[in-house]
Amino acid sequence: MLHINGLVCRYGKVEALKGVTLSIGQGQLVALIGANGAGKSTTLRAISGILPSAAGRITFDGHDITKCSAREILSKGIAHCPEGRRVFPDMTVDENLDMGAYLRSDRREIAADRERIFGMFPRLAERRHQVAGTLSGGEQQMLAIGRAIMSKPRLMMFDEPSLGLAPNIVEQVFSIIDSIRKSGTTVLMVEQNAYSALEMCDYAYLLETGSIVLSGSGKDLIDDEHVRSAYLGG
Ligand code: ATP
Repeated sequence: MLHINGLVCRYGKVEALKGVTLSIGQGQLVALIGANGAGKSTTLRAISGILPSAAGRITFDGHDITKCSAREILSKGIAHCPEGRRVFPDMTVDENLDMGAYLRSDRREIAADRERIFGMFPRLAERRHQVAGTLSGGEQQMLAIGRAIMSKPRLMMFDEPSLGLAPNIVEQVFSIIDSIRKSGTTVLMVEQNAYSALEMCDYAYLLETGSIVLSGSGKDLIDDEHVRSAYLGG
């Protein structure tokens, strides 16, 4: 469904990605793991068109999207749930969800998706008229996921969805991501919680200083000596 070939991205003189190649099959949950600064967020930013690539090619459903704008990429069905939640703090929960659906015009389905999100996250339903900036960290994370679902994506990308959340909320967020995958949406997940990501994924890539150094099933990576010592605490 998504293929990245030889992707190079730079921030000024810093070469953050040095020729990344990876693939995601339809319906898969793929995990991208690696240390801080390895280039995981940069990979997601390049896919969603926020960051231009210096070289390489990204195709989605066989179409070259390397030079597409962020808006075009969203309209093709790729949603990005960024690190740090990034909800619109001065807008209400309802308004944030509306923003997720801004490229859609199917009013009835939009309303149904909103109710589905409130079913998944009852706390958001209780706070639908509250401004997002006053929500707790966990609630903002749920809202960011809900907003991404509102764009009705075929590929949903999560950047560190568990970052800074209490353990019980982390479990809930992972279970929601699993149910998003089970509903047929393809998922690419960047996660610092490597063990959880490897346990739930179909396939995983390990990124080190801008290059993919290892890939395989989650189990393959969990069993790998280097992954165990460097990322799973031995
Ligand atoms: P983290 O988990 O810390 O976010 P990451 O694997 O997602 O790590 P990136 O954020 O993709 O890493 O960063 C990759 C490299 O690019 C790092 O060396 C980082 O310092 C650099 N970088 C990222 N964003 C910028 C920026 N806006 N300007 C300059 N350099 C940047």
